[in-house]
Amino acid sequence: MADLIVLLGPPGAGKGTQAKVLSQDLGLAHISSGDLFRDHLQRKTELGILAQGYMQRGDLVPDDVTISMIRDRMSNPDCAKGAILDGFPRTVPQAQALDAWLADSKLGAVRKAPYIKVSEKALVERLSGRWSCRAAGHVYHEKFNPPKQSGKCDLDGSELYQREDDKAETVKNRIRVYFEQTTPLIEYYRRKGVLAEIDGEKPIAEVTEELLASVKNK
Ligand code: ADP
Ligand code: ADP
Repeated sequence: MADLIVLLGPPGAGKGTQAKVLSQDLGLAHISSGDLFRDHLQRKTELGILAQGYMQRGDLVPDDVTISMIRDRMSNPDCAKGAILDGFPRTVPQAQALDAWLADSKLGAVRKAPYIKVSEKALVERLSGRWSCRAAGHVYHEKFNPPKQSGKCDLDGSELYQREDDKAETVKNRIRVYFEQTTPLIEYYRRKGVLAEIDGEKPIAEVTEELLASVKNK
């Protein structure tokens, strides 16, 4: 049975930052739906072209294409031991599709769903100062987690850029979409008994400690 962890939280909560550390520490694959979409966009695949408009507006890409993209990714051998899901599911139908697929494929069920809680004010500040690396989506913050050398990724030396959808107007829509379509997942996972609430306003290393404690507690 694979070990599956779903990271919940609004845009800017720190899901990507923490998923990278957790996946290393726990030896699980890191699956970021946003990174997968951005990769399709860069390669101008059919899926990338379809997703582009939704992403630019800060809306969600339709469930059917998102679910099949993640299912494909999870069939990869690197997920045999399990995975940290970052940014998926984001709607109740996505969560239901994931559960149905896990049951069918005998992979088990989602073991833990840590919800990283951050206030709206802090989210806006985080997203407006976020810098992402071109090569692998490593994230930095100009104030809270600056790279050693400005404009360059510490880990792979690639160029850092600011995402188009991190601009103020798009951020507002993304947060609205999150409250409308994604917050019901908190109840969904609470009812299944796997939710863990994490204070995401603490410094990055402290949030990592809390997360590791919650996911290691089986
Ligand atoms: P998400 O994947 O949830 O959208 P990210 O991991 O990309 O979030 O983090 C958003 C921004 O906030 C990044 O610039 C990141 O460096 C910064 N950040 C992440 N966690 C913290 C934290 N605990 N305190 C301050 N800044 C943080
Ligand atoms: P963040 O964590 O900063 O909100 P992501 O990188 O996870 O951003 O997602 C960027 C965009 O990709 C979203 O605004 C949305 O358009 C699309 N996207 C990512 N994950 C999903 C998903 N599970 N369902 C639908 N759209 C998604």
